[in-house]
Amino acid sequence: VCCLAGILGLMQTTDATAGGCTAQAAYTLLIHGGFVGYSERVQPHQLELLKSITRKGRARLAAGASAVDAVTEAIVAMEDSGAFDAGKGSFYNTGGFVETDAALMDGDTGRAGGVAAMQRVRNPILAARLVMDKTPHTLLVGATGERSLAALGAKLVDDPAAYFKPYPLTAPQPGDEHGTVGAVALDRCGHLAAGTSTGGTRHKLPGRVGDSPIIGAGTFANRRYALSATGKGELFMQRVATHDIAARAEYLGVPLQQAADRMVRELIGQHDGAPGAVIAISADGENVMSSNGYGVLYGYATEKLPPTSGARIGGE
Ligand code: ASP
Repeated sequence: VCCLAGILGLMQTTDATAGGCTAQAAYTLLIHGGFVGYSERVQPHQLELLKSITRKGRARLAAGASAVDAVTEAIVAMEDSGAFDAGKGSFYNTGGFVETDAALMDGDTGRAGGVAAMQRVRNPILAARLVMDKTPHTLLVGATGERSLAALGAKLVDDPAAYFKPYPLTAPQPGDEHGTVGAVALDRCGHLAAGTSTGGTRHKLPGRVGDSPIIGAGTFANRRYALSATGKGELFMQRVATHDIAARAEYLGVPLQQAADRMVRELIGQHDGAPGAVIAISADGENVMSSNGYGVLYGYATEKLPPTSGARIGGE
């Protein structure tokens, strides 16, 4: 039984890579556009973007794309849009330049890839994918990591100061709020994946790395759950938040929403006083968001539910 299951698992993985996931009807795509501090700062164009990215991703999953591909593609679209704190729209650090972080995890195989403190990579999530697919490592960082990635085919921008949209270091004004991006997906093989991409927090020091590229902190997936976080990365790292939520749900047998609320609202929110939100799905069809403040932007679709987007307000 063990070996047959192993062979079937291998076949499913191969199918997923080829875009041939059709074993089950159910699929899910849940994406986020970060934690925006005030509900009045939710911008209609961001919600439209999240909806259209979700629509494309939903069609891909319906056609048999793997969860890893669906997550990667959704995040590339958000990075390229310039509408979020990821890829093109990344916040500048206190040194006046961009350093991006991203990670991707394949819940079925347990493989993961991440990049941190990238200054010239055009799509951090594609760089994370290269780490996962083309290296024996899990995390590559900084200028030397970037050189390794360029050698593996990562696209770099020629002039970072021209490519990355400059972002003021002062407090954001209404209308310019934007946040980290993430995605979780369940494909029709029944496999899960999670990814997160960010320019990090405002006013971060050069060299600072957040939770997004750290597996188990801002990004995590296994065969049961896939999660992506946004908020104050220091707390998500210190609490190993996404892994803790998955472990709490699995080991205690509690609903995923309850496990996520315990971490995001009680621990990081009430106890630590830090902003945060998580999107999470399970292979059994649980789809949850947990937020401890105003407005985590999301896009969501399943095989039954057409694409929808909105802002999830903490406390609801
Ligand atoms: N979690 C990200 C970081 O700390 C930032 C965010 O989600 O807003 O880098």
